[in-house]
Amino acid sequence: MAEFDVDLFVIGGGSGGVRAARIAAGHGARVMVAEEYRMGGTCVIRGCVPKKLFVLGSHIRHEIADAAGFGWTIPPVTFNWPTLVANKDKEIARLEGIYTTNVEKSGARIVKTRAVLEDAHTLRLATGETVKAKYVLVATGSAPSMGDAIPGIEHAISSDQAFHLPELPRRVVIQGGGYIALEFACIFAGFGSDVTVIYRGDNILRGFDEDVRSHVRREMEMDGITILTGCTIGKIDRHGREFTAHLSNGSSIASDLVMFAIGRHPNVANLGLETAGIAINPRNGGIAVDGWSKTSAPSIYAIGDVTHRINLTPVAIREGHAFADTVFGKRPVQVDHSNIPTAVFSQPEVGTVGLTETQARAQFSRVDIYRTDFRPIKSTMSGRDTRILMKLVVDGATDRVVGCHIVGDTAAEIVQAVAIAVKMKATKADFDATFALHPTAAEELVTMRTPTARYVRDEAAE
Ligand SMILES: Cc1cc2nc3c(=O)[nH]c(=O)nc-3n(C[C@H](O)[C@H](O)[C@H](O)COP(=O)(O)OP(=O)(O)OC[C@H]3O[C@@H](n4cnc5c(N)ncnc54)[C@H](O)[C@@H]3O)c2cc1C
Repeated sequence: MAEFDVDLFVIGGGSGGVRAARIAAGHGARVMVAEEYRMGGTCVIRGCVPKKLFVLGSHIRHEIADAAGFGWTIPPVTFNWPTLVANKDKEIARLEGIYTTNVEKSGARIVKTRAVLEDAHTLRLATGETVKAKYVLVATGSAPSMGDAIPGIEHAISSDQAFHLPELPRRVVIQGGGYIALEFACIFAGFGSDVTVIYRGDNILRGFDEDVRSHVRREMEMDGITILTGCTIGKIDRHGREFTAHLSNGSSIASDLVMFAIGRHPNVANLGLETAGIAINPRNGGIAVDGWSKTSAPSIYAIGDVTHRINLTPVAIREGHAFADTVFGKRPVQVDHSNIPTAVFSQPEVGTVGLTETQARAQFSRVDIYRTDFRPIKSTMSGRDTRILMKLVVDGATDRVVGCHIVGDTAAEIVQAVAIAVKMKATKADFDATFALHPTAAEELVTMRTPTARYVRDEAAE
């Protein structure tokens, strides 16, 4: 009898787990994947994809408003939330089917159940079965955090429930200043809700470039969203269908929905990690891994959100692929986590890659900043009061473009392409040598000639 039932057991059928399972099976491994909810994981079922569908739907309000300046007369429009949710659900079910089929086609077997570790090679399924695996990949993702158990927290929803609301709330209060909070604030506002964002810090989008943070805040406020910083919700009361959020600054806000989007925690609880000898990273609460995504148990690896490194779908996918190539494909590869482009699908959206100005100034002795903000050509006709921000951060010593930050329509699409140049270590001179594509907003990236700021660190003074 074979020592192991499978070569690889993957816990979690999300972005990272699915990629690892398919690639490992392609390398000839006998693979089993356990998924306790729906194949596709957070990104497909209650993350990136349904979120983007909601963003696209809500952005149509801007298109409609902009049309008049171009001569269109549009009769009064109406919006039907249940139609949006039903069509989104149909698309998500289609994608879930594709994920399932692709895994099965690769030769891996899916078990639709929860799996936990009994020891470093044994999995116990919720069905009662046990499976012996030569290697285990933990790809259990993350879940929304709801913070401290404040009175009335049970009345608040997370992003998980926001995708299934029976009706569009007229007034929404969202606690959080990160990308998920802002994306939902703009989604609800776009569909016509009255939205208030509550954030404990001094400004939204902590960790992003300071210019991006202030630009997004200004644009969201101009679009009618109220942003209250330096305070938190301390208590939530319910009166029938209405809620009152009591804030730490002594004020209170009535709403039809209170949502918390204050961060996510890695799914490490009740997985049997201790019995299998897997250590937790004390700095972030995720599974501790080395550069190969190997845990402290030699037969067990972990990838994606459960490691709490960089919680993005393409990162989980890349880590899953690298793991499978390394362990089953005789192609050792470590993931380079530098220069990962990222977006915030707020309205207007953010696209960013590389270092912020603050990070660059801490790292390099001379930093040149090229920054512009301007009215997009469309606004000259639509009359919309909005501006695009573009910013390049350059290492003055090598002339390398080490950061690019854009706020404005299609910023994410632009930054995906710029990320290639940044990854290839393009210099500002390379940007300057590139022809402008006219008339576009992105042409500003290759036509900014003079630095708007130059920072030279006085090494002698340090
Ligand atoms: C609202 C929202 C919007 C987002 N938007 C973006 C975006 O625009 N771009 C982007 O790159 N990223 C985005 N993300 C992040 C992205 O979804 C995650 O980084 C990504 O899904 C992580 O993949 P993963 O494989 O690590 O985990 P997941 O995709 O979460 O998959 C983990 C799976 O494991 C299953 N599972 C857990 N425990 C067990 C168990 N014991 N047994 C069996 N199954 C188990 C879960 O049910 C889940 O399906 C968003 C996330 C959210 C919540």
